[in-house]
Amino acid sequence: MSNTIEIKEFDAVIIGAGFAGIYQLLKLRRLGLNAVILEKADQVGGTWHWNRYPGARCDIPSLEYSYQFDENLQQEWNWTEKYSAQPEILEYLNHVTDRFELRDGIKFEEEVQTAKFNEDNLKWTVTTSKAKYQTKFCIFATGCLSVPNKPNFEGIENFDGELLQTSNWPHEEQDFSGKKVAIIGTGSSAIQSIPIIANQAEELYVFQRTPNYSIPSNNGPMDKDIEKEIKSRYSEFRKENYSNGFGIAGISDESLISETELEEVHQQLEENWQSAGLGFFGGYADIPIDKDANKVAADFVRNKIKQIVKDPDTASLLCPDYHIGGKRLCVDTGYFETFNRENVYLIDLNANPIEKISSNSIEADKKYEIDTLILATGFDAMTGALTNIDISGRGNIKLKDQWEQGAKSYLGIGISNFPNLFTVTGPGSPSVLSNMMPSIEQHVNWITDCIDWMIQNDKAVIESSETAEEEWMALVNEIADMTVFTDTKSWYNGSNIEKKAKAFLPFIGVPVYTEMIEEVVNEGYKGFIFDRMN
Ligand SMILES: Cc1cc2nc3c(=O)[nH]c(=O)nc-3n(C[C@H](O)[C@H](O)[C@H](O)COP(=O)(O)OP(=O)(O)OC[C@H]3O[C@@H](n4cnc5c(N)ncnc54)[C@H](O)[C@@H]3O)c2cc1C
Repeated sequence: MSNTIEIKEFDAVIIGAGFAGIYQLLKLRRLGLNAVILEKADQVGGTWHWNRYPGARCDIPSLEYSYQFDENLQQEWNWTEKYSAQPEILEYLNHVTDRFELRDGIKFEEEVQTAKFNEDNLKWTVTTSKAKYQTKFCIFATGCLSVPNKPNFEGIENFDGELLQTSNWPHEEQDFSGKKVAIIGTGSSAIQSIPIIANQAEELYVFQRTPNYSIPSNNGPMDKDIEKEIKSRYSEFRKENYSNGFGIAGISDESLISETELEEVHQQLEENWQSAGLGFFGGYADIPIDKDANKVAADFVRNKIKQIVKDPDTASLLCPDYHIGGKRLCVDTGYFETFNRENVYLIDLNANPIEKISSNSIEADKKYEIDTLILATGFDAMTGALTNIDISGRGNIKLKDQWEQGAKSYLGIGISNFPNLFTVTGPGSPSVLSNMMPSIEQHVNWITDCIDWMIQNDKAVIESSETAEEEWMALVNEIADMTVFTDTKSWYNGSNIEKKAKAFLPFIGVPVYTEMIEEVVNEGYKGFIFDRMN
């Protein structure tokens, strides 16, 4: 018996079966390529498979947080709410997988561990927990928010109660009735789940390091008139995704706070508070770029928090002191109101850091005895899933080493020294600073067209030039420096992860980005090198 491992041969290996990977498989199959998805989970869904915490839902309206590539699909699928909850989004992803007969192209429970480019045969060898693959093209659809950050609190390993993490939530429904629950973190997942957990738990202790701005979702059943109107012009509506700075249709407003009477601004902000959700941030064109205008919007939200939360000390702790939008803006259902409940306590970790966790308690300003501990501590965003894999390119260069001082990519799609490797919504693209759905589809279409072009033009290998990459990341930073995003510590710039290089990674501005990646193609894939000889 031989113990050589069989190497499975494919034209393209896609890593990840979330929104990006599923669509990428469909596109490559339609091109006639033999492609496969390798996915570590036991089912499709990505974000919507892993994040099953109570209250998990999208905060971009479902009518545009959905695929747009197939007119029949978008006409036939009916979302039940304005912002759909996790189970419905997961059901949708399963529906798409089956409707386009993709399931047989996905290998589940195969975590990719290494990917190595072989300069002799110009192919990638991809090793998973179960098998080995050889492929010409390697596409990372591994997600921007798919690697949970698990802080190392002293004594956490001794905790005997129930330990949960929002980003890897059990499949069974959790019942917090009669329990003393602690949640660490107050980002988007905590803001969505806290009101629901508070409703069940005997006591809920919220441990906050940094408060966040949040806008009420005003979620509810899908408005059938709005749905009908949008479906009557769906493709036109979707085009708005690419003409808005953050990829959200229908919220572009060119008005400036700096040029508007304050009373009128307040009226408009009130209207946006009532109805716009994330669109609040784009409600005036100068909120993202002008510190004074930003302060007007931030003060408006801080006043709302102070009006909603009855205890002035708690209200003050919940008021952020940085620019609105500097950290990912949140959208909630009754978040601030929850702090008026008698069973909810807010603990300020700046004044009282967690000292240790024991078998049944957390110690900060005092000892809190608890049954359940929930970590809502975010993600190693944008790069974590890539640097988690041992990826080696030309000359055995490791991606992790190349990115030690900060991730660099050309267009957020290609990386120098890593030929025929593509990233969907990689660092340097709008990704997390956009409605991810149009951004994912844009990248998958771009990558597929590029592969098609290479086949038509007999090109074996594509890679970005170092110069193009340097210039691209300089532009990413130059644009970011014109905004309020760079002077706030956030996961956009790696500040939430200890020892991670601090670099601002998303490209701000979907319309400019869209124009630029089209220009790259029109100019013969400017900035990319084909069939490098040395
Ligand atoms: C709670 C939550 C709410 C969100 N809400 C919104 C929203 O409202 N609007 C919005 O635009 N965006 C939102 N996002 C961002 C969201 O991640 C994207 O919208 C989108 O789902 C990303 O899809 P994806 O396919 O790119 O990545 P993912 O959905 O993250 O899928 C990546 C897949 O790759 C797999 N994978 C990773 N590493 C490996 C490996 N080594 N081997 C094998 N498989 C691997 C993962 O298991 C995962 O299944 C949200 C994110 C979170 C966490």
